[in-house]
Amino acid sequence: MKDKDIINVRKRQGEKEKYVRPLLKGLAHTMKKFWSKPKTIQYPDQKREVSQRWRGLHELTRNEEGELKCVACGLCASICPARCIDVTPYEEEGGIRYPKEFEIDESRCIFCGFCQEACPKEAIKLTRIYDFVNFSRDECRFDIEKLSDSKKHRFKQKKGKYEHLLG
Ligand code: SF4
Ligand code: SF4
Repeated sequence: MKDKDIINVRKRQGEKEKYVRPLLKGLAHTMKKFWSKPKTIQYPDQKREVSQRWRGLHELTRNEEGELKCVACGLCASICPARCIDVTPYEEEGGIRYPKEFEIDESRCIFCGFCQEACPKEAIKLTRIYDFVNFSRDECRFDIEKLSDSKKHRFKQKKGKYEHLLG
């Protein structure tokens, strides 16, 4: 600690030190900030770009033929710490497997990314979508259809009023 950082409490401060100097310092700081570029943005009209590593809403990926890559192995559901993935497998005669039902409860998810890491088929990924809103817990349950087009569930502005486009 330097000498200038030590405050002598026995020495009484004069009016100038007590009020005027802090006031001037505060005003100077205000003026400095007044002319600088604001850090805030007008959300949701403006949206901030999040990091590449951001873990947001899930998406089920498809192959070039447009079929789900998922083979309903259930690894993602087993590793999920929040137990929010439900997979019901279906197997065709030729041994081709796919999910009959696939559901994620986004309201319980902690966005750890384990499901994406565990998937052997790169069939599930976490997008950078952070702004999805719902009016009920049921709407937070994302099925195959919703998970196939996650961008559709971003919060959007419509005719000057803020609405989300779910449902
Ligand atoms: S991100 Fe984590 S909590 Fe969310 S579904 Fe995947 S494994 Fe479960
Ligand atoms: S998303 Fe991946 S880990 Fe989960 S059931 Fe499908 S193939 Fe298995």
